[in-house]
Amino acid sequence: MVLNEFSLIDTYFTLLPNPRTDVLLGIGDDGACLRVPLAMDLVVSTDTLVSEVHFLPNWDAYDIALRALLVNISDMAAMAATPCWVTLALTLPVIEPAWLERFSQGLKEGLLRYQMALVGGDTTRGALAMTITIHGLVPQGKALRRSTANAGDKIYVTGALGAAALAVACLAENQWPPEEAQGVLMQALLQPRPRTDWLVLLQTYASAAIDISDGLSSDLAHICRASGLGAWLSLETIPIHPLVSQWRPKQALDFALNGGDDYELCFTVPASIEKAFLVAASQAGLKSHCIGTLVQGEDVRAADAQGRVVSVPAKGYCHF
Ligand code: ADP
Ligand code: MG
Repeated sequence: MVLNEFSLIDTYFTLLPNPRTDVLLGIGDDGACLRVPLAMDLVVSTDTLVSEVHFLPNWDAYDIALRALLVNISDMAAMAATPCWVTLALTLPVIEPAWLERFSQGLKEGLLRYQMALVGGDTTRGALAMTITIHGLVPQGKALRRSTANAGDKIYVTGALGAAALAVACLAENQWPPEEAQGVLMQALLQPRPRTDWLVLLQTYASAAIDISDGLSSDLAHICRASGLGAWLSLETIPIHPLVSQWRPKQALDFALNGGDDYELCFTVPASIEKAFLVAASQAGLKSHCIGTLVQGEDVRAADAQGRVVSVPAKGYCHF
Protein backbone atom coordinates (compact mmCIF):
# COMPACT_ATOMS: atom_id res chain seq x y z
CA MET A 1 0.00 0.00 0.00
CA VAL A 2 1.30 3.46 -0.85
CA LEU A 3 0.94 5.73 2.16
CA ASN A 4 -0.14 9.31 1.94
CA GLU A 5 -0.49 11.78 4.82
CA PHE A 6 -3.94 10.50 5.78
CA SER A 7 -3.39 6.75 5.55
CA LEU A 8 -0.12 7.32 7.43
CA ILE A 9 -2.00 8.99 10.29
CA ASP A 10 -4.62 6.22 10.30
CA THR A 11 -2.06 3.44 10.25
CA TYR A 12 0.46 4.68 12.79
CA PHE A 13 -1.32 7.14 15.07
CA THR A 14 -5.12 6.72 15.13
CA LEU A 15 -4.79 3.07 16.09
CA LEU A 16 -2.61 3.67 19.15
CA PRO A 17 -4.26 2.55 22.39
CA ASN A 18 -6.13 5.14 24.43
CA PRO A 19 -6.19 4.20 28.12
CA ARG A 20 -8.18 7.33 29.13
CA THR A 21 -11.91 7.96 29.51
CA ASP A 22 -11.60 11.76 29.46
CA VAL A 23 -10.89 11.99 25.71
CA LEU A 24 -14.29 13.00 24.32
CA LEU A 25 -12.85 13.40 20.83
CA GLY A 26 -9.38 12.24 19.78
CA ILE A 27 -7.52 11.99 16.47
CA GLY A 28 -9.60 12.54 13.33
CA ASP A 29 -11.41 15.84 13.73
CA ASP A 30 -10.30 19.47 13.50
CA GLY A 31 -9.49 19.46 17.19
CA ALA A 32 -9.46 17.16 20.19
CA CYS A 33 -11.98 17.59 23.00
CA LEU A 34 -10.79 16.71 26.49
CA ARG A 35 -12.69 16.81 29.75
CA VAL A 36 -10.91 18.78 32.47
CA PRO A 37 -12.21 17.97 35.99
CA LEU A 38 -13.67 20.98 37.80
CA ALA A 39 -11.19 21.01 40.68
CA MET A 40 -8.09 20.80 38.48
CA ASP A 41 -5.86 23.21 36.61
CA LEU A 42 -4.62 22.36 33.10
CA VAL A 43 -0.82 22.57 32.60
CA VAL A 44 0.53 22.75 29.03
CA SER A 45 4.09 22.44 27.76
CA THR A 46 5.78 21.99 24.35
CA ASP A 47 9.14 20.56 23.37
CA THR A 48 10.66 20.25 19.91
CA LEU A 49 13.22 17.59 19.11
CA VAL A 50 15.34 18.15 16.03
CA SER A 51 17.41 15.51 14.28
CA GLU A 52 21.19 15.97 14.88
CA VAL A 53 20.46 18.30 17.80
CA HIS A 54 18.36 16.24 20.22
CA PHE A 55 18.79 12.81 18.68
CA LEU A 56 20.75 11.21 15.85
CA PRO A 57 18.94 10.09 12.70
CA ASN A 58 20.52 6.62 13.00
CA TRP A 59 18.83 5.98 16.38
CA ASP A 60 16.07 3.40 16.46
CA ALA A 61 12.80 5.29 15.82
CA TYR A 62 11.35 3.50 18.87
CA ASP A 63 13.93 5.23 21.07
CA ILE A 64 13.37 8.61 19.40
CA ALA A 65 9.60 8.48 19.99
CA LEU A 66 9.77 7.11 23.52
CA ARG A 67 12.40 9.63 24.59
CA ALA A 68 10.44 12.51 23.04
CA LEU A 69 7.47 11.53 25.21
CA LEU A 70 9.57 11.03 28.35
CA VAL A 71 11.24 14.44 28.20
CA ASN A 72 7.82 16.09 27.82
CA ILE A 73 6.46 14.09 30.76
CA SER A 74 9.41 15.39 32.79
CA ASP A 75 8.14 18.94 32.28
CA MET A 76 4.80 17.89 33.77
CA ALA A 77 6.60 16.33 36.75
CA ALA A 78 8.45 19.62 37.31
CA MET A 79 5.08 21.40 37.42
CA ALA A 80 3.75 18.74 39.84
CA ALA A 81 1.13 17.85 37.20
CA THR A 82 -0.07 14.40 36.13
CA PRO A 83 0.60 13.97 32.38
CA CYS A 84 -2.63 13.13 30.51
CA TRP A 85 -2.74 14.02 26.81
CA VAL A 86 -0.25 14.74 24.03
CA THR A 87 -0.34 16.07 20.50
CA LEU A 88 2.45 15.33 18.03
CA ALA A 89 3.60 17.51 15.14
CA LEU A 90 5.84 15.27 13.08
CA THR A 91 8.00 16.39 10.15
CA LEU A 92 9.42 13.61 7.98
CA PRO A 93 11.72 13.78 4.95
CA VAL A 94 10.15 10.60 3.44
CA ILE A 95 7.51 8.05 4.38
CA GLU A 96 9.37 4.95 5.56
CA PRO A 97 6.90 2.33 6.86
CA ALA A 98 9.52 0.42 8.90
CA TRP A 99 10.65 3.63 10.60
CA LEU A 100 7.06 4.71 11.28
CA GLU A 101 6.22 1.29 12.70
CA ARG A 102 9.09 1.52 15.22
CA PHE A 103 8.20 5.13 15.96
CA SER A 104 4.58 4.29 16.76
CA GLN A 105 5.72 1.32 18.90
CA GLY A 106 7.85 3.71 20.96
CA LEU A 107 4.90 6.08 21.32
CA LYS A 108 2.67 3.20 22.38
CA GLU A 109 5.13 2.12 25.07
CA GLY A 110 5.37 5.63 26.52
CA LEU A 111 1.61 6.26 26.37
CA LEU A 112 0.81 3.00 28.16
CA ARG A 113 3.59 3.43 30.72
CA TYR A 114 2.11 6.76 31.84
CA GLN A 115 -1.58 6.13 31.03
CA MET A 116 -1.66 8.91 28.44
CA ALA A 117 -3.49 9.41 25.15
CA LEU A 118 -2.25 10.83 21.82
CA VAL A 119 -5.17 13.08 20.86
CA GLY A 120 -4.00 14.85 17.71
CA GLY A 121 -1.14 16.35 15.77
CA ASP A 122 0.10 17.37 12.39
CA THR A 123 2.15 15.57 9.76
CA THR A 124 4.33 17.43 7.30
CA ARG A 125 7.27 16.85 4.94
CA GLY A 126 10.66 18.36 5.73
CA ALA A 127 13.81 17.73 7.76
CA LEU A 128 13.19 15.16 10.52
CA ALA A 129 11.84 16.88 13.64
CA MET A 130 8.99 16.50 16.07
CA THR A 131 7.12 18.77 18.43
CA ILE A 132 5.15 17.28 21.28
CA THR A 133 2.67 19.32 23.25
CA ILE A 134 1.76 17.74 26.54
CA HIS A 135 -1.20 18.51 28.77
CA GLY A 136 -1.39 17.60 32.43
CA LEU A 137 -3.67 18.06 35.41
CA VAL A 138 -2.85 19.40 38.84
CA PRO A 139 -5.17 20.19 41.80
CA GLN A 140 -6.19 23.86 41.58
CA GLY A 141 -3.45 26.24 42.68
CA LYS A 142 -0.87 23.47 43.15
CA ALA A 143 1.15 23.86 39.93
CA LEU A 144 4.79 24.41 40.93
CA ARG A 145 6.67 27.40 39.54
CA ARG A 146 10.31 28.38 39.32
CA SER A 147 9.62 31.79 40.77
CA THR A 148 8.12 30.99 44.16
CA ALA A 149 11.15 29.95 46.21
CA ASN A 150 12.20 31.96 49.28
CA ALA A 151 15.54 32.72 50.94
CA GLY A 152 16.30 29.95 53.44
CA ASP A 153 14.56 27.22 51.40
CA LYS A 154 16.56 24.01 51.11
CA ILE A 155 17.57 22.83 47.63
CA TYR A 156 16.92 19.17 46.84
CA VAL A 157 17.77 16.93 43.87
CA THR A 158 16.14 13.57 43.09
CA GLY A 159 18.16 10.54 41.94
CA ALA A 160 21.77 10.83 40.80
CA LEU A 161 23.23 13.01 38.06
CA GLY A 162 25.69 12.74 35.19
CA ALA A 163 24.93 9.37 33.57
CA ALA A 164 23.22 10.80 30.48
CA ALA A 165 26.05 13.31 29.96
CA LEU A 166 28.59 10.50 30.27
CA ALA A 167 26.66 8.53 27.63
CA VAL A 168 26.80 11.56 25.31
CA ALA A 169 30.56 11.87 25.92
CA CYS A 170 31.10 8.15 25.24
CA LEU A 171 29.07 8.42 22.01
CA ALA A 172 31.12 11.42 20.91
CA GLU A 173 34.44 9.72 21.70
CA ASN A 174 33.22 6.27 20.62
CA GLN A 175 34.82 4.87 23.76
CA TRP A 176 32.77 2.92 26.27
CA PRO A 177 33.18 1.24 29.62
CA PRO A 178 32.39 -2.53 29.64
CA GLU A 179 29.12 -3.76 28.19
CA GLU A 180 26.96 -3.78 31.31
CA ALA A 181 27.85 -0.19 32.17
CA GLN A 182 27.33 0.83 28.53
CA GLY A 183 23.77 -0.54 28.73
CA VAL A 184 23.02 1.43 31.88
CA LEU A 185 24.43 4.65 30.38
CA MET A 186 22.53 4.32 27.11
CA GLN A 187 19.37 3.58 29.09
CA ALA A 188 19.93 6.78 31.09
CA LEU A 189 20.20 8.76 27.85
CA LEU A 190 17.43 7.06 25.85
CA GLN A 191 14.90 6.32 28.55
CA PRO A 192 15.15 8.88 31.34
CA ARG A 193 12.64 8.31 34.15
CA PRO A 194 10.50 11.41 34.54
CA ARG A 195 9.84 11.80 38.25
CA THR A 196 6.06 11.50 38.23
CA ASP A 197 6.45 9.45 41.44
CA TRP A 198 7.19 12.77 43.21
CA LEU A 199 4.00 14.62 42.26
CA VAL A 200 2.13 14.43 45.56
CA LEU A 201 5.20 15.22 47.67
CA LEU A 202 6.01 18.21 45.47
CA GLN A 203 2.44 19.50 45.65
CA THR A 204 2.56 19.19 49.43
CA TYR A 205 6.05 20.38 50.38
CA ALA A 206 7.92 22.10 47.52
CA SER A 207 8.09 25.88 47.07
CA ALA A 208 9.57 25.74 43.53
CA ALA A 209 10.79 23.11 41.08
CA ILE A 210 12.46 22.55 37.71
CA ASP A 211 13.47 19.45 35.80
CA ILE A 212 17.17 19.04 35.09
CA SER A 213 17.30 19.00 31.30
CA ASP A 214 20.17 21.36 30.50
CA GLY A 215 22.29 20.65 33.59
CA LEU A 216 21.94 21.28 37.33
CA SER A 217 24.01 24.48 37.30
CA SER A 218 21.86 26.14 34.62
CA ASP A 219 18.55 24.74 35.80
CA LEU A 220 19.13 25.78 39.42
CA ALA A 221 20.14 29.20 38.08
CA HIS A 222 16.66 29.42 36.49
CA ILE A 223 15.02 28.94 39.90
CA CYS A 224 17.39 31.52 41.38
CA ARG A 225 16.75 34.11 38.67
CA ALA A 226 12.99 33.56 38.65
CA SER A 227 12.81 33.77 42.44
CA GLY A 228 15.25 36.70 42.69
CA LEU A 229 17.68 34.77 44.87
CA GLY A 230 21.15 33.26 45.01
CA ALA A 231 22.20 29.83 46.26
CA TRP A 232 24.83 28.34 48.52
CA LEU A 233 25.77 24.79 47.50
CA SER A 234 27.67 22.02 49.26
CA LEU A 235 29.40 20.53 46.22
CA GLU A 236 30.21 17.29 48.06
CA THR A 237 26.50 16.57 48.55
CA ILE A 238 25.60 16.68 44.85
CA PRO A 239 24.48 13.14 44.00
CA ILE A 240 26.78 11.76 41.28
CA HIS A 241 25.77 8.64 39.36
CA PRO A 242 28.07 5.77 40.51
CA LEU A 243 29.14 4.95 36.94
CA VAL A 244 30.27 8.55 36.46
CA SER A 245 32.35 8.45 39.67
CA GLN A 246 33.77 5.11 38.59
CA TRP A 247 34.66 5.90 34.96
CA ARG A 248 35.37 9.64 35.03
CA PRO A 249 36.41 10.34 38.64
CA LYS A 250 38.22 13.57 37.72
CA GLN A 251 35.31 15.00 35.72
CA ALA A 252 32.53 13.44 37.81
CA LEU A 253 31.44 16.66 39.53
CA ASP A 254 31.54 18.50 36.20
CA PHE A 255 29.27 15.88 34.58
CA ALA A 256 26.83 15.97 37.52
CA LEU A 257 26.81 19.77 37.78
CA ASN A 258 26.91 20.79 34.12
CA GLY A 259 25.82 17.73 32.12
CA GLY A 260 22.25 17.69 30.84
CA ASP A 261 19.61 15.12 29.90
CA ASP A 262 19.18 13.44 33.29
CA TYR A 263 15.58 14.64 33.77
CA GLU A 264 15.81 14.43 37.54
CA LEU A 265 14.09 17.19 39.51
CA CYS A 266 15.61 20.09 41.42
CA PHE A 267 13.16 21.52 43.95
CA THR A 268 13.13 23.68 47.04
CA VAL A 269 11.57 23.01 50.43
CA PRO A 270 10.94 25.68 53.10
CA ALA A 271 13.17 24.93 56.11
CA SER A 272 10.13 25.07 58.43
CA ILE A 273 8.58 21.97 56.80
CA GLU A 274 11.79 20.16 55.88
CA LYS A 275 11.46 17.60 58.70
CA ALA A 276 7.89 16.73 57.72
CA PHE A 277 9.01 16.51 54.09
CA LEU A 278 11.80 14.06 54.94
CA VAL A 279 9.42 11.85 56.95
CA ALA A 280 6.86 11.82 54.11
CA ALA A 281 9.55 11.11 51.49
CA SER A 282 10.95 8.23 53.49
CA GLN A 283 7.44 6.80 54.00
CA ALA A 284 6.89 7.04 50.24
CA GLY A 285 10.26 5.35 49.61
CA LEU A 286 11.50 8.34 47.57
CA LYS A 287 15.16 9.36 47.77
CA SER A 288 16.53 12.85 47.29
CA HIS A 289 19.59 14.81 48.39
CA CYS A 290 19.81 18.24 49.97
CA ILE A 291 22.55 20.08 48.07
CA GLY A 292 22.31 23.57 49.54
CA THR A 293 20.19 26.55 50.51
CA LEU A 294 18.69 29.52 48.70
CA VAL A 295 20.10 32.83 49.93
CA GLN A 296 19.66 36.56 49.32
CA GLY A 297 21.65 37.78 46.32
CA GLU A 298 21.93 36.50 42.79
CA ASP A 299 24.99 34.24 42.59
CA VAL A 300 25.29 30.51 43.03
CA ARG A 301 28.31 29.89 45.27
CA ALA A 302 30.04 27.07 47.09
CA ALA A 303 33.17 26.35 49.08
CA ASP A 304 35.95 24.52 47.23
CA ALA A 305 38.09 21.72 48.71
CA GLN A 306 40.33 24.33 50.40
CA GLY A 307 37.34 26.11 51.93
CA ARG A 308 37.56 29.11 49.59
CA VAL A 309 34.33 30.59 48.30
CA VAL A 310 33.94 29.99 44.56
CA SER A 311 31.15 30.95 42.22
CA VAL A 312 29.32 28.12 40.39
CA PRO A 313 28.59 29.39 36.86
CA ALA A 314 25.60 28.13 34.85
CA LYS A 315 27.31 25.92 32.30
CA GLY A 316 24.57 23.66 30.99
CA TYR A 317 23.43 23.20 27.41
CA CYS A 318 22.28 26.30 25.55
CA HIS A 319 21.03 26.30 21.93
CA PHE A 320 22.10 29.81 20.91
P1 ADP B 1 -6.31 19.54 9.65
O1 ADP B 1 -6.29 19.65 8.17
O2 ADP B 1 -7.62 19.87 10.30
O3 ADP B 1 -5.12 20.19 10.31
P2 ADP B 1 -4.94 17.07 9.51
O4 ADP B 1 -5.23 16.48 8.17
O5 ADP B 1 -3.64 17.76 9.70
O6 ADP B 1 -6.16 17.97 9.95
O7 ADP B 1 -5.04 15.89 10.57
C1 ADP B 1 -6.14 15.02 10.58
C2 ADP B 1 -6.30 14.47 11.97
O8 ADP B 1 -5.19 13.68 12.31
C3 ADP B 1 -6.41 15.56 13.05
O9 ADP B 1 -7.33 15.11 14.04
C4 ADP B 1 -5.01 15.62 13.61
O10 ADP B 1 -5.04 16.02 14.97
C5 ADP B 1 -4.55 14.18 13.46
N1 ADP B 1 -3.08 14.06 13.24
C6 ADP B 1 -2.36 14.53 12.20
N2 ADP B 1 -1.06 14.20 12.32
C7 ADP B 1 -0.95 13.51 13.48
C8 ADP B 1 0.13 12.93 14.18
N3 ADP B 1 1.39 12.96 13.73
N4 ADP B 1 -0.15 12.31 15.36
C9 ADP B 1 -1.40 12.30 15.84
N5 ADP B 1 -2.46 12.81 15.22
C10 ADP B 1 -2.24 13.43 14.06
MG1 MG C 1 -3.02 19.65 10.01
